[in-house]
Amino acid sequence: MEHTMRAEYTEDDPDRVRSWHMVRGTSTTAMCGKALRADAAARSDAGWGDDPSMMCHTCGALYLREVP
Ligand SMILES: [Zn+2]
Repeated sequence: MEHTMRAEYTEDDPDRVRSWHMVRGTSTTAMCGKALRADAAARSDAGWGDDPSMMCHTCGALYLREVP
């Protein structure tokens, strides 16, 4: 299963990333259940953990359980 990081944006500024979630494949629903914008920025899951304060904790826990 491929995973992709996708951005959640702040309500105040639609260009400002609030946090990063993890999705399966090209889904727009994060693993934690959060619905993300269809045009949300995507990044390789290799970047997960680069900036821990920006990572969704729930997605992180689920992701680490699926990836060895
Ligand atoms: Zn999440």
